[in-house]
Amino acid sequence: MKTQTVARRRALVLGASMAGLLTARVLSEHFDQVTILERDTVTAEPQSRKGQPQTRHLHGLLASGLQMLAHYFPDLPDALTENGAIVGDMAEKMHWHSYGGFRQRFHMGLKGATMSRPLLESLVRQRTLARPNITLRDNTAVKGLVTTTDRSKVVGVEVESRGASTHNETISADLVVDATGRGSRTPQWLTELGYAAPAESEVKVDVGYATRLYRRDPSDPLGQDWILSTPEAPRESRFGGIFPIESDRWIISIGGWAGDHAPTDEEGFLAFAHSLPNPDIYRIISQAEPLSKIIAYKFPASLRRHYEQLERFPQGLLVLGDAISSFNPTYGQGMSSAILQAAALDKILAQKSVAPELLARTFFKAAAAVVDTPWQLSVGEDFRFPQTTGPKPAGVDLINRYVAAVHRATRFDPEVGRAFLKVMNLLEPPTSLMTPGMMWRVWKANRANRQESRRVTEERAAQVAV
Ligand SMILES: Cc1cc2nc3c(=O)[nH]c(=O)nc-3n(C[C@H](O)[C@H](O)[C@H](O)COP(=O)(O)OP(=O)(O)OC[C@H]3O[C@@H](n4cnc5c(N)ncnc54)[C@H](O)[C@@H]3O)c2cc1C
Repeated sequence: MKTQTVARRRALVLGASMAGLLTARVLSEHFDQVTILERDTVTAEPQSRKGQPQTRHLHGLLASGLQMLAHYFPDLPDALTENGAIVGDMAEKMHWHSYGGFRQRFHMGLKGATMSRPLLESLVRQRTLARPNITLRDNTAVKGLVTTTDRSKVVGVEVESRGASTHNETISADLVVDATGRGSRTPQWLTELGYAAPAESEVKVDVGYATRLYRRDPSDPLGQDWILSTPEAPRESRFGGIFPIESDRWIISIGGWAGDHAPTDEEGFLAFAHSLPNPDIYRIISQAEPLSKIIAYKFPASLRRHYEQLERFPQGLLVLGDAISSFNPTYGQGMSSAILQAAALDKILAQKSVAPELLARTFFKAAAAVVDTPWQLSVGEDFRFPQTTGPKPAGVDLINRYVAAVHRATRFDPEVGRAFLKVMNLLEPPTSLMTPGMMWRVWKANRANRQESRRVTEERAAQVAV
């Protein structure tokens, strides 16, 4: 029998995407029964759903996310590999052109994964639903919160169940967690109940993706690599990624910041890929067989909702994942942030003494601490573009000048590459790049970079003279 101050009979999780599944997994340790409510129809096989259109685009899983998933589902890395995902050392696998050249590759043992997003989610879902106290109700759209008459506590939700007949119903719970993504209606529900909605930080980036699947020849020398091109901003604004995924396929997403989006017609798509500084992206797709149409996705702005700043919040309700913070996707952080937030909730609930009236405050503070690093990294990089608008962190221009030097240094010094990858994978804070020892290495590597550039310029001049 569990003893606790928060009643822990039934928990409801709204949304069955990555944040919802991990939240349900975590709650199953602390509640007798966990029910996930999902608006879409969920099939057993990997499939993108209407409620998560982004899952048709390039998704990589950072090391922090993979490590935490493996903590909750120890057989997941093997299951990924068995199903054709590429799980490997990011420092070795990434063939990454950035800031004028390729970052150095070396052994580091820092594992990430590439696969289609639906494959990852289906394997996580299978394992989540294998737990005896978790059930998933799909075709169930949450319409609103149910509270006590004084509105101090959420005690359930109103849903519309769609099946042979559509009907409305109330489901009661001791805890409701909103993991319905960026479109979460909690801010609106809060104001309807007489609470303040959270303040929002919105950073407009006008990023566009264009994505296509191609057949992959695994014997291609680059057939197991994660091939990336990221811009030297603001001089360049285009990115591209082509990742090996299951069933011998490539998934490619190309696009850019500030409205520099790739066209979705054949010729325009290829020309855009050709314009990227990493030539391998175009080389591969110009020779491979296309397996899908080219589809587009527009991401206008990163959005952070500051639940941690609210003075009043009803008991029995939490918000998690993209519903708290949705980042510019080009940095690949969203799933890992959601997974790390769920893990933070696990830690809090494991302290049996947490009082019900303090749960939300404690969780939102912990979730904000998780979100701080990916937000700082993505927003910082986005402000390299003069077109980016929104709350600009103090000192970001100065930091960006240094981080640009770090990017360049990763082409010459594996130690800088190692430190950079740890930060990028949300395993170390950005301040770890700013120790005196690291700054010295960055300075030395940039001196090597300048010498190389000078040598190349002189060689070119000599060739012209001849
Ligand atoms: C183009 C793109 C590329 C990305 N690439 C990466 C990447 O490489 N790596 C990475 O880590 N992240 C990436 N992300 C981010 C990642 O997709 C999300 O962070 C991740 O899906 C977690 O989101 P979530 O579960 O909070 O919400 P979502 O994935 O948005 O899921 C919300 C769920 O709630 C359901 N729902 C909504 N409303 C209701 C309702 N009223 N009732 C019941 N159910 C409801 C929806 O149907 C959906 O299933 C990318 C995002 C985009 C846009």
